[in-house]
Parts: sequence; structure tokens; C-alpha cells
Amino acid sequence: MIKIVPLPQEIKQISDRTFNYSESDIVKVQDDSIKSEGYKLLINEDGVTSVASTEKGHFYALVTFRQLVKSGALPHIEIIDEPRFSYRGYMLDTCRHFFTVDEIKKQIDAISHLKLNVFHWHLTEDQGWRIQIDKYPLLTEVGSKRKQTRGDNTPVEGFYTKEEIKDVVAYAKSKHIDVMPEIDIPGHFSAAIAAYPLLSCDGKGCEVKEAFGIFEDVCCAGKETSYQFLFDVLDEVFELFPFEYIHLGGDEALRIKWINCPDCQKVIKDNGLKNEDELQAHFMSRIAAHCEKAGKKVINWNDGMTGENTRKSIVVHYWTQTKKNKAAAVRHVAGGSQGLISPFFNYYLDYPYGMTPLSKTYNYDYQKDGFIEENIIGLESPLWTEYVKTIDRAEYMTYPRLIAVAEKAWNTGSTYKNFIKRINPILSILKKLDINYAPLKDCNPRGVQRLKSLYAFAKNYKHPSSKESINRTMQNKRMLEEKYEKKD
Ligand SMILES: [Zn+2]
Repeated sequence: MIKIVPLPQEIKQISDRTFNYSESDIVKVQDDSIKSEGYKLLINEDGVTSVASTEKGHFYALVTFRQLVKSGALPHIEIIDEPRFSYRGYMLDTCRHFFTVDEIKKQIDAISHLKLNVFHWHLTEDQGWRIQIDKYPLLTEVGSKRKQTRGDNTPVEGFYTKEEIKDVVAYAKSKHIDVMPEIDIPGHFSAAIAAYPLLSCDGKGCEVKEAFGIFEDVCCAGKETSYQFLFDVLDEVFELFPFEYIHLGGDEALRIKWINCPDCQKVIKDNGLKNEDELQAHFMSRIAAHCEKAGKKVINWNDGMTGENTRKSIVVHYWTQTKKNKAAAVRHVAGGSQGLISPFFNYYLDYPYGMTPLSKTYNYDYQKDGFIEENIIGLESPLWTEYVKTIDRAEYMTYPRLIAVAEKAWNTGSTYKNFIKRINPILSILKKLDINYAPLKDCNPRGVQRLKSLYAFAKNYKHPSSKESINRTMQNKRMLEEKYEKKD
């Protein structure tokens, strides 16, 4: 059995003969008829030939070759390969907990072996602002520090300088990976408001959050100062990240303050908007227009795209599978807009294996959720780090589930059983990179083992702060209901 992950599109085993070659034996041949990420790899008595139209194609041939070497003697073989999707991503939240440049580079190296091509870098949050912005120095002076996390009396701080970001982007480029920044607006914005209180509806500041959950401190969508601030920040962001996509979050934005803000309510009235969902779409559309002028395409999480006036050019990032949000995402894609797939119950890497076993991640098929394949740009798996304090833990949660997502992003795949039979060479490559992946015996826990996994997670998760967060969300819901019931 040829053990390669992601599964190549076409493998032709020519005979039972085997060969011994090393990387230095690979001869590169240019063929412009091959797509930019595609390649052919030939291994026979004459040697090893990599055929591609780009360096990226040759790189993927090399990645495949390395797995074949790990499997033992090289087979007499021809592989013809290209990816299913143009966007194959991994997201790391560096805000809830901070990771060093070296730790990030290690992950970039690892994902390059999975033929992933996007590192989605979550850089701003309630709990920390992690990117240097020259025009607004308090974002990092104030916003990158929190005194403690959920009462542990241990400060967390850190941010990436522009030089460090350029270094990461260049490193990723050398591995044929693009880096996509995420500046999360209008929610998950407390760290920015802690630095610049004028960004909030009431002009009152807040602390960089020490708890996790959903907060009412969102960016005011009514004041011109908010727009000017975001245009300035994004202009500096664009200078650092050449990738065509930018992620602007849009998730979990509470309406509590917008409902009571005269500026936000004036925008609703002046523009004939129906409600706060449409205010968010209006806000995002103005910011997206600015990004598009700079040649960027905007991506948003799907719960921020429920307004009927949602901008068509924004790519919907499907994560929350609740009825209203899923319907909005499916409708957006059906209307000709693009989508990116990261379903919470299958692809979220921060949930324990007891809740999201490896087989569940592998077996997810987004088409069953009603999306049209031709409008889907790709798949991505995110790791949120509220409960992930170290890179070792991050790696344990990420791998091997990310390998399953990488396979589906490259190929429609095979059966789960077949996938597991092919996984050892890539695992030994990850091991060599010192990646602390979860052993396969931990990945599909059953019975007592599963309960233990769920219990350990729930014990960590059930903290007074999550109760507060639920209360805020319920208050938000009540306020919206009251407002629109009265209107009716
Ligand atoms: Zn406001």
C-alpha cells in the first residue's frame, strides 16, 4: 500500500520493483501545462523526476517524496496530483494565549508537510491585541497585556513587532504558505477599547479581559472615529501581509451597546436599516470597501453575516452550525458568493477528542450542509486557545485532526479506515519536527475513556466567567426581542 497523506489524485504503480534514491536525486522538469499547485512524480530505473509548472508544484512533489521515503524502499510509481481546493488553512489564536515566533514557525513547517497553503493568524481579541500598529501605540502598550487569566494571578502579555511579522511571512513564503491576518471587528474588541475608549459606543473604557466568553464592549458602528481608526490600522496591516485575503472576524458581536447608542441608532435610521444585524452588515461593508480598494478580499465568520444587506463580495467563513447562521451562510454561497468551511462540531481543534474524535473530523462532508462546491474556496481548521496555554498542548489538540482536514482539502478522500492505514509516514515526519501530536489511541475515545476526556474539559470550561458570558448573551437576546416586539 502506498502511504501518502493527503491522498494523491492518481497513483499508478508500474511494477513491484523498488528503488533507493534520496532527495538529491530528484530531477526537476518544467511543464507549463500543469496547474500551479499540481505536479507529477515519477520514480523508475532512471531516477526520480518531479514535473511541475511552478516551484510550489515541485515543493509538493518533494513533500510526497519524503513520505514515500519514510515508508521504506521507493516503489516503481507515477503520481499525478493537484489539490481539490485552492485554500487549505490552519488558524492559530495567539491572543487568548501568546506563542513565540519560533513556535509559530514550527507550526508553519509542520503544516507545509500536509500541503496546507494558508496560515490564518488570529491577532486581536478581548484578551489581547498582538500586532504592532505605529499610529496607535497604545494598542500594544495597553492592549497586549492582561493582569491575569480567570483569577490565576499570572500576567499574560506579548505582541509581534512589524519586523517579527515580516520574518514569519517570509518564512511561510519559503514553505509556499500565505499568511492571512485576522483583525476581529466589531466584537472581540475589548483590548482595543481598553487602549482607546473612544472606540466604544459610550466612550467608556474597559479592561483587557481576564475571563473568556462574549463581551458587550464592541466597536461603535456609528462614530466616524471608529471607521477612521480601522482604515488606519488596516492600511498598516496591508503593508505587512501581501496575501490577497484578510479576515475581519465579525463573530459574536453583542448588540447591547448598539441598541443604547444614539450614534449607532442614527446610522440605522439614516440608512433605512431594519435592525442591528443590518447595522453590522452596513459597518462591515464600509470597511470591506476600504479593503477592496487596496486589492484585498474580505472574509467574515458566518454569524456576522445574517443581515439581508450583507456585502456579496465578502467570503463567508462557515463555523457556527446553528439554524439561523447556517441558513445565512448557505444562502450567501447559493447567491454566488464564496465560502470557506470550518464547522464547529467537526473542525474546531480546541474541543477534546471525546467530543470531536478524529473519525468525526475525517468523515465530515460539507456538501451535506447544503453548500455548492463550485463556490467553496476551501477548508480550514481553527485552534482557539482559551484553554490551550502551551504549544505542546496546541500540537496535541491540532494533530492528527488537522491531517484529516488537510486530506479533505486536497482530495475528496477515501474511507477513514484507509486514511489511518496511510498515516504513519506523515506522523513520523511530524515526530521528527518534534510535534507533540496525540497518539492514535487517544483520538477516538470510547466508553470510560471518552467520559474522562469530556469531564476533564468540562471541569476546565465550567468557570464562573462562562456563566457571566451566557448571562450577557441572554441579556442581548432579551434586549433585541423587546426592541423589535415593541416596534411590531
Ligand atoms: Zn455606537
